[in-house]
Amino acid sequence: MPSIRPTHYQVSALPAAHPACRDYALDIHWHHRTDTWSVAYADTCHAPDGTGHPQVADCHIHHRYPLDRAIAIAERAAPHVTVNGRTVADALARSQEADPT
Ligand SMILES: [Zn+2]
Repeated sequence: MPSIRPTHYQVSALPAAHPACRDYALDIHWHHRTDTWSVAYADTCHAPDGTGHPQVADCHIHHRYPLDRAIAIAERAAPHVTVNGRTVADALARSQEADPT
């Protein structure tokens, strides 16, 4: 029997159908050895208060969480993601310009 387990989630403040949903998504990664999860956006790691910072040596000790905590941190951080200076609100406004339905 194969074993199947999720090892990665994405949390985005944009709706799943939005073309930029993935660009604004934080990644939640599972860490096999410790059975814990981390929250990342690009090269940044996310602390328990949701703020991002560059990866540092002790991130693998201090910034690993149970899955429910990691999801909560990502949910807190997701509305504050910017891509090329564009906020979540900017991305939503642009998609409405492109598709005025
Ligand atoms: Zn960290």
